[in-house]
Amino acid sequence: MNIALVAHDKKKELMVDFCIAYKFILQKHNLYATGTTGTIIAEETGLNVYKFFPGPLGGAQQIEGRVACNEIDMVIFFRDPSTSQEYEPDVNPILRLCDLNNIPIATNIATAEILIKGLERGDLGWRELVNR
Ligand code: PGA
Repeated sequence: MNIALVAHDKKKELMVDFCIAYKFILQKHNLYATGTTGTIIAEETGLNVYKFFPGPLGGAQQIEGRVACNEIDMVIFFRDPSTSQEYEPDVNPILRLCDLNNIPIATNIATAEILIKGLERGDLGWRELVNR
């Protein structure tokens, strides 16, 4: 499965902790991330991550393009609801595209844990039939 990972600056540490905790699952999948999020995940966990541009340079838009083409099977986008910076990507365009294509998306750790456990259990197997 293709999994996209994005974290606003205040949530990057949380993203790293999430990736460490679920490395045993994530390592079985193709990981894509905005530039800085991907660099930090790769450095801190050793996971292979394909890195798009940094968020402020269009990385989120690159992920949106993949989501629009239904090429991403799950999105984890840890947004910072209280202090996100003007330059940080807005989650709403990705949310809309996920809704168009029925792509599961988590915007907080509680939902992300449910999704990743569902992924491991095979609940997203139907995604293999989509757009392949
Ligand atoms: P980044 O993009 O991973 O490149 O930082 C996300 C953001 O800008 O918050």
